[in-house]
Parts: sequence; C-alpha cells; structure tokens
Amino acid sequence: PIYLDNHATTKVDPRVVETMLPYFTEKYGNAASRNHAFGWVAEEGVEQARQQIAEALNADAKEIVFTSGATESNNLALKGVVEMYREKGDHIIISSTEHRSVLDTAKTLETKRGVKVTYLPVDKYGMVSPDDVRAAITDKTVLISVMLANNEIGTINPVADIGKVAKEKGILFHCDATQGVGKIPVDVQAMGIDLLSCTAHKIYGPKGIGALYVRKKGPRVRLAPIIDGGGHERGMRSGTLAVPLIVGFGTAVTLCRQEMPVESVRLAALRDRLQTTITTALEEVYLNGHPTQRLPHNLNLSFAYVEGESLLMGMKEIALSSGSACTSATLEPSYVLKALGVGAELAHSSIRFGIGRFNTEEEIDYTAKRMIETVTKLREMSPLYEM
Ligand code: PMP
Repeated sequence: PIYLDNHATTKVDPRVVETMLPYFTEKYGNAASRNHAFGWVAEEGVEQARQQIAEALNADAKEIVFTSGATESNNLALKGVVEMYREKGDHIIISSTEHRSVLDTAKTLETKRGVKVTYLPVDKYGMVSPDDVRAAITDKTVLISVMLANNEIGTINPVADIGKVAKEKGILFHCDATQGVGKIPVDVQAMGIDLLSCTAHKIYGPKGIGALYVRKKGPRVRLAPIIDGGGHERGMRSGTLAVPLIVGFGTAVTLCRQEMPVESVRLAALRDRLQTTITTALEEVYLNGHPTQRLPHNLNLSFAYVEGESLLMGMKEIALSSGSACTSATLEPSYVLKALGVGAELAHSSIRFGIGRFNTEEEIDYTAKRMIETVTKLREMSPLYEM
C-alpha cells in the first residue's frame, strides 16, 4: 500500500520514537513532582521540548502551552479569549474555510454564548483578504482567527498582513497553523500572531499532543482555561503532562526544522511531477487551491465526470482522501471547495494528495499511472463523458 494522506496524519518518524521510548520505561516520573529525581528528569524532558517548539515558532518557551492536539488548542484559543475578554466585546472574526475545530467552536460560542461571529469569504483560490478582515472589525471585536494553510487545498493565507491589521486595531490574532508548522517557515513575531495552534501528528510526531502558543509580551494574552484542575501550564491547561508525547513532539519539530530546506523542495518536486503527469495525460482535470501560494506537499485535483469516491474505490492500494469523504457519512461535498465557488459536481470529483517524508518517486509514478487508468476507465463508463 502507498500512503498519500499526510494531511490527515503522518507516520511517526523512527528517530522520534527513539527519543520517546526512555520516557515510557525509565524516565516515567510526573513532570510536576518537585521532590525527587523522577520528577526532575521528566520535567527536563518537557522543558527541552518546550524550548524546541518555541524556537521553531520564534517564541519563548514560557509561551508554549501543551494540549491534546490542535482541536483542543483551537477550542482553548477561541473559548479562552471570548471568556476572558467579555467586557471588551462579543464579536469574533473567522474565515469560512477554517478546520471544523475552529468553525464548530465558533458556532457553539454563537448559539450558546450569544457571541457574534463574522465568517469571512475567500477568493477562488481559497485565500482570505486582509482588507476583508479590516472591514469586518467593529469596536466589539476581541479575536480574529485565520488559518495559516488549509488542510484540503493547501492554500497559504497572507497571515503576516492579517497580523498587521490586527496589531493596528489592537485585536488579538489567532492562527491555526496545524498544516503549516514544520512544512513552511513560521514566525509569530514577523507574522504578528498572538495565539497559534499546532499538533505533533501532522509532522511525524505522535498523536494526542499539541500546543497553543500564547503571547506573553506586547500584548500579554490572557486566557480563561477550559479544563480546571491542578493549575498546570500556568493555569491555562490542567492535567498531568504527557511526557513521552511531549518529548516526541519536540524531536519532531526539530527534525522538521533541520530538514525543511531540503524536504520542502523534494516534496514540491514530487507534487509537481504528479500533477504534470496526470494533467498531461488527462483532460478536464482542475487544480483546487492556489497555484503557487500553497503547501509544498499538497495537491488537490478535480476530475470532471468522475466521482471521487468511485475513484478511490478503484485504487484501494493507495491511501488518499476525496472532497466528499471528509464530512462524514452524509457525503456532502467539501465546504472548503464550496467556499471557493467550486460546483457540487467538481467538488464531488476532487481528490486530495498529501505527500510526505516517506514517499518515493516510484510511489508517485505508480500513483499517477493508476489515477490515469482509473479515471479513463470510469469516464468510459460515464454517460456524461464524450470521448
Ligand atoms: N486544524 C487543522 C487545519 C487540521 O488539519 C487539523 C487536523 N485535521 C486540526 C486542526 C485538528 O488537529 P488534531 O487532530 O491535533 O486535533
């Protein structure tokens, strides 16, 4: 089998596993135990990882809060800000192509807490306009949340420009950078980001561990916790720290940083090879997302006259996602593609390729060949397609 679903999750890098193992077997202390070496050793592992993650974001270690993943980080950012800054206002701005963990959190705040939510449109490439952000701001706005890179189409938003608008207006800026961290350079200072979500399992680290960057200096961001308890993570996220996962997260981030210059070029070349081979052999194949401002390892294509689901069924040895599979059993077309203005037919015909660290050129060539075969076969059977 070939794994090309690296936006969903990634294989844990063996070098990451290696650094985690001692924290299961020998260094199993509670990082909050202050009275003995077991605790100190665990704490040391956690603090090193915190430093590694902070460095990758150009942040300070004290600004990193560990969570169970980006879903929780997004929940904490939105709910934590809304709760803490109630007196200042009750309006937040998000983009309409955010991940469900942002969209649904906003929806909950809207329906259960009476918060006003502006859903920003995107252009035909899936990009948010900083001018739209500016125009949506009112004197009641407490938070802007726009993702760095989209998980379906890979489009990269002009985050630094949005950060500038936020700073100018004195409004907090949260960025879900889950798909961008480790893949493209991220700098919370240069990008004017006050809160940033990320997760380990998209960058060859373990599942179940994520982080929220929470700015401490100029301005210091305050958050109401959504989990109460022992006051871990400066009171923002109680619960015993998942030391082995945290250590793995730190290693994963560091490896990505070291390998990014070479890795991103290699993956982009594989992506381009896949795209060129497919689009040269087949007509009526359309690129979803931005042609240049996109993640190096993402490719999202619509194959006219073919159902994405049938395509995947016809090539089960390759792990891919279709634009209608994401949103569960209902087979609704992707809301992201809808927001771009892609019609229902083409949205149903879309396939997302997520290329990763462990993919080879042979796998890419095999995938292109199988795509071409399968699309050709399905089109031959389609009454709508005329050869
Ligand atoms: N945001 C984005 C953009 C994502 O792609 C994902 C994962 N699909 C998440 C948030 C949620 O991350 P996690 O699985 O760590 O909760």
